[in-house]
Amino acid sequence: MGGQGLNKRILHVDMDAFFASVEVLRRPELKGRPVVVGGSGDPTRRGVVSTASYEARRFGVHSAMPLRTALKLCPKCVFLPVDYKEYARVSEKIKKMLLEISPLMEDVGIDEAYLDITARAEPSEQIGRMIKERIFRETGLTCSTGIAPNKLLAKIASDLRKPDGLTILCPGDVPELIWPLNARKLPGVGPKTEEWLKILGINTIGDIASKGPEWLRDKFGQSFGQYLYEAAMGVHESPIITEWKPKSISREETFEQDAANWQTVARALALLTRDVVSSMREEGYTARTVTVKIRFEDFETLSRAKTLKQATDDLEVFRRTAFECLGRIELKKRVRLVGVRASGLEPAREFS
Ligand SMILES: [Mg+2]
Repeated sequence: MGGQGLNKRILHVDMDAFFASVEVLRRPELKGRPVVVGGSGDPTRRGVVSTASYEARRFGVHSAMPLRTALKLCPKCVFLPVDYKEYARVSEKIKKMLLEISPLMEDVGIDEAYLDITARAEPSEQIGRMIKERIFRETGLTCSTGIAPNKLLAKIASDLRKPDGLTILCPGDVPELIWPLNARKLPGVGPKTEEWLKILGINTIGDIASKGPEWLRDKFGQSFGQYLYEAAMGVHESPIITEWKPKSISREETFEQDAANWQTVARALALLTRDVVSSMREEGYTARTVTVKIRFEDFETLSRAKTLKQATDDLEVFRRTAFECLGRIELKKRVRLVGVRASGLEPAREFS
């Protein structure tokens, strides 16, 4: 287990049905009703469910499901458009509050974060309760929290009792509480791995653990196989990442009004590209891959990327490549957002 300090205490916070809960908060008349947030909020149009309230989940509605399917399952559901601005505002408020409890926070999404609470004097349960109470008092929202010696177990723990749960796991709890869980509950196991595991006769996390590291490495490759084994044993050494070197530099712009013509999109793309290149230069990077992202009025989002033969920070090359990418996207609807990203970053070499 190497350096997995058994005394570490990591807390994972996961907001309950976040988008739907924020919507209900500002529309109290929706409380107790099945609410689905997704796309433009029109279930007769294309789009998928971003979040379903717990009331809607009872009808079988879940995230990533087409809105039309959700409508069939639950005609009484209230459908609302996604309003990231509002969710981001609430999310920021929560993250700020978490940082007051411990400066060691890893922000992993709009509705979740890890917090290293090792240095706090209070017992874990008391900190967990305090965080839940403060979030509720300041935002009116509930969350589920897990506390464990590492990030992996903390994440599994927060998922054990949803909504509004608080679960504390010790390494000794792994055989009894974690092994009976479906393999899919192990972070890193997606639908494809799950399918492959099933073919191999593996259904639970305990089944993974029982196969042993050699067998798993043989079937899933050195690094992922080893990960699966350690994860199933509850071992995980990845630290809280409070900040890291950027893997990409990007800019995006959401138009005040959805843009209907190519010129508006092109002008924005040119400005964003210039910004990206100047930040790259400031931070001393060159990049190989240029990605352009377009989000349409209905939140359909397309991106196109091109990788150059050589990393560069040349504005002209970047602009040309970005426009090449834009040219591969059919602007068939009004455009809500345009973004550009430079990735495959390499430190710029000085030839002086
Ligand atoms: Mg959540």
